Amino acid sequence: MILRRSRSPLSASLKAIRMPIQTSPPLTSQSLNGTTRVLSSAPVSQPTSTGTPAAMTDDRCLRSMDELLTVLRSQRVKSLFAVVDAGAYRHSGAEEKLAEIFSEFPVTCFDQFEPNPKSHDVLSGIQLFRESGADLVIAIGGGSAIDIAKVIAATAEETASLEDLILRRAPFTAQAVPLIAIPTTSGTGSEATQFAVVYIDGAKHSLDDPRLLPDWCVLDSQLTHKLPRSITANTGLDAFCQAVESLWSARSTESSMRQATEAATLAFRHLQQAVQQGTPEAREALSRASHLAGRAIQQTRTTASHAVSYTLTSEHGIPHGHAVALTLGAMLEHNAAVTEADCNDPRGPEHVRASIRRILTLLNCETAKQGRERIETWIRSLGCQTRLHELGISGRGTMEQIATKTNAERLGNNPRLVTHSQLITILESIQ
Ligand SMILES: [Zn+2]
Repeated sequence: MILRRSRSPLSASLKAIRMPIQTSPPLTSQSLNGTTRVLSSAPVSQPTSTGTPAAMTDDRCLRSMDELLTVLRSQRVKSLFAVVDAGAYRHSGAEEKLAEIFSEFPVTCFDQFEPNPKSHDVLSGIQLFRESGADLVIAIGGGSAIDIAKVIAATAEETASLEDLILRRAPFTAQAVPLIAIPTTSGTGSEATQFAVVYIDGAKHSLDDPRLLPDWCVLDSQLTHKLPRSITANTGLDAFCQAVESLWSARSTESSMRQATEAATLAFRHLQQAVQQGTPEAREALSRASHLAGRAIQQTRTTASHAVSYTLTSEHGIPHGHAVALTLGAMLEHNAAVTEADCNDPRGPEHVRASIRRILTLLNCETAKQGRERIETWIRSLGCQTRLHELGISGRGTMEQIATKTNAERLGNNPRLVTHSQLITILESIQ
């Protein structure tokens, strides 16, 4: 890949191609002990009358590099800033597929970041972006590459420092630089969400702001053809869990439920084949499942299984998708037993039960107990463990620790309340 530096000033015309920002929910931060605080921010434009969140739409979802080239030309892009997961860039085939585009535009490449991006990685990226004079950011890789590109694009033109924006709630004043996300895995759906994670001094900060939503994405499942089995399984599990959690989320809408139902159905039907045979059809299904699940959680956020998963990943090293999937079956049973007294969805327990029935239907099961068993059998068929002791996690004290550190904000989206002692019981049931 030939890299050139462009020092041309940022293109004023590109400021106009950013998607209209419709609402501006606050940035939030969760430390590893589960506390959450609001971080920011003032909206850069007024919410729409409907108050609907910004969303990735079909016309922003490109299917090939030819379509990408057409967009870049039509937007009169002068210079590109590529945020690249170097390994994924080479192994996925993105390097070959992007060769024509990268020969037509000056490109500055940034690949000096770790898998879970730290604030110093973001700062290096912002500095290089400013030096490059690029007017559009392209992210190529998995969740980490897309996350860091989102933060660079959203904060590069801010006068406030990154830490002021994230830690001290300084208001955003500038618009984000246009961003195109090209995922090389099928899991996070990050190309369709306005979330990103950055670590500052070891603490995880989850940003949630419309400025982080990519303007376009390129969904090309061929980029996932060479993914190893373990990554296919882990990322596919994330897509499935995000879809199921979105379905029962207390914030679900009709449109999020449609997207989540299709995503969960596709992932459940095709993940085993994607892992075992890696057929193009299965890869294509997973690519769509991941994207739709991303669009669904953009509206609903995730719930209890994600809430518990963060500690399983950060302190016990379990890959994200697998960590989430471990409690999904148990949470299905828990949520199915919702009552008037502990219902956390304003639409009431009957609405929650209807969502659970929708999930059971796609699992082809009658009861939540059967649904849990079906999910756990399926996870094992993907080569993943379903019991904590198989992963070296055991003991009442450890379960209590995990429960204590569970993310309170994500738990708040769960359709049924989960008390501390219920959470310990759930963890012990998968011990
Ligand atoms: Zn996830």
